[in-house]
Amino acid sequence: MKASKMLIATLKETPNEAVISSHVLLLRAGFIRKLVAGVYNYLPLGLRTLHKIENIIREEMDKAGCLEILSSAVQPKELWQESGRWSKYGPELFRFKDRHDRDFCLGPTHEEIFTDLVRNEVKSKKNLPMNIYQIQTKYRDEFRPRFGLMRSREFIMKDAYSFDTSFEGLDKSYQNMYKAYCSIFDRFGLNYKIVLADTGAIGGTGSHQFMALSDVGESDIIYCQCGYAADQEKAESRVDEYHFNDEMLPIEEVLTPNQKSIEEVSTFLGLNAKDVCKSMVYRDFVNNRLVLVMVRGDRDVNVIKVVNALNIAEHEIALSSSEDIISLGSVEGFVGPVGLKEDVLILVDEEVAKMKNIVVGANKANYHLKNVNFGRDFIGTVGQFRNTVQGDICPICGRPLEMERGIEVGQIFKLGTKYSLPMGCTYQDDDGSVKEMVMGCYGIGVTRTMSSIIEQNHDEFGIIWPINVAPYHVVIVPISMKDEMQVKVANEMHDKFVSLGIEVVLDDRDERPGFKFKDWELIGIPYIITIGKKVNEGICEFKTRSTLIKEEKTFDEAINTINELVKKL
Ligand code: ATP
Ligand code: MG
Repeated sequence: MKASKMLIATLKETPNEAVISSHVLLLRAGFIRKLVAGVYNYLPLGLRTLHKIENIIREEMDKAGCLEILSSAVQPKELWQESGRWSKYGPELFRFKDRHDRDFCLGPTHEEIFTDLVRNEVKSKKNLPMNIYQIQTKYRDEFRPRFGLMRSREFIMKDAYSFDTSFEGLDKSYQNMYKAYCSIFDRFGLNYKIVLADTGAIGGTGSHQFMALSDVGESDIIYCQCGYAADQEKAESRVDEYHFNDEMLPIEEVLTPNQKSIEEVSTFLGLNAKDVCKSMVYRDFVNNRLVLVMVRGDRDVNVIKVVNALNIAEHEIALSSSEDIISLGSVEGFVGPVGLKEDVLILVDEEVAKMKNIVVGANKANYHLKNVNFGRDFIGTVGQFRNTVQGDICPICGRPLEMERGIEVGQIFKLGTKYSLPMGCTYQDDDGSVKEMVMGCYGIGVTRTMSSIIEQNHDEFGIIWPINVAPYHVVIVPISMKDEMQVKVANEMHDKFVSLGIEVVLDDRDERPGFKFKDWELIGIPYIITIGKKVNEGICEFKTRSTLIKEEKTFDEAINTINELVKKL
């Protein structure tokens, strides 16, 4: 390929909207362009890398025995009604009507479509187990699309769905995908962790997430030396036995004028933030009731754990209004569990339930209650409703937990019969009885993976692509396009690379060499060969992008080095 014929759309300046490295570099290197918020066009270099990422995923999925199909992004309401998700799925779902006033959505995920396909096409037990996948465009009207391809409204996902005749079969299919995902993320050279995960809007009984480690990741990973690892929504920790064995003291009302926050109240009373309890009020829109959630003052409420306990979705709950709090018989800033109207549901974090003599709001302006005790002064549903933090105690081995940030690049779920039961995706067993298939589903964010590779592979000059996903393997830069010898050798070398099946660019643009080097370093081509002054001695300069180390090599040495590397791909 000659650079003069390519669309090299590199930018000198960092576009305003980009904050994280991968977003900045995808734009600056001319890989993507924004169309509207969270929707991107892929330029030629971007598409080449995207295809390579897709192909690695495809190879490993095929190796794992999965069958590729392609389904439409357009999905009819009726299938979503069958699964019960048409009314449950939140505002992320892009819904629209056709000219006949029929309802559709753009698929954010494809459980309904694949379940429908299999119930229609697969009748015999002989065809099971089966795992079908696709690499296809998904749509989610994200509340805050951001970070380029990391959280977009249109993105490419590899989604796979397994169909088994038993739960033991599902376990095998799940393990098979777990292994395939490890092979995939290993081939991208990603530094990742596998964590236990919450099942979210997809549902089901068990799940793992694959997290690329990165400070810009939006997920907290909690892990321990013993091997325990979970995302924040799933993480558990042993309770901190703070004031567990104290004698219960008589309840006492104390004046706390204008002291509302945990910090204000604890300082005012000369106590630790841990001694005061946080009482957060939420409105549950499904059951149309108020829910009071209590955690220790130094803790934060984990909303996912709350919605899981309520068996509702995340968008079906919100922090309550001041009117709600008044209707409870309380006052903002002074909410507590004692003496509230009865129809409120109280969820008590286990630390609070076991702690003695806590401080809570008195449901009366400017007052708090001291020495309040669960069981004696109030009751509620006890569970783990707090966020886990670094240093909390591992639920498995008792060592302190560690924490890191991660980008969720993939997630696998055991669905069981969550979709096959309501949608009637069945098979006939040997005894003639009809049974539901047991399903799993498995997603990889293809475009998010592209961003994650950049987050882990870049420097101040640009992207450093691993050779298996780089848009081209090597670039040849003649120092002067006016030097006949340099141009001749560069062309010969280019043709040799092509004949070896190596993806090469010859930078024949009429630009200064420095300008060209900057472009290729930004774009992240793994090897840059410069044909310059020593052309007559048969010598070129060979630069490795990842280390920026330059070496002199003979033309043949340069060609052979690249050839050996590419042969291994
Ligand atoms: P998140 O928690 O980041 O919103 P999710 O758990 O809702 O993601 P899944 O339903 O598990 O996502 O989708 C499978 C994969 O698709 C995710 O692991 C992620 O890599 C990718 N993905 C999900 N949402 C987006 C998005 N808005 N933009 C890019 N990739 C996404
Ligand atoms: Mg997920």
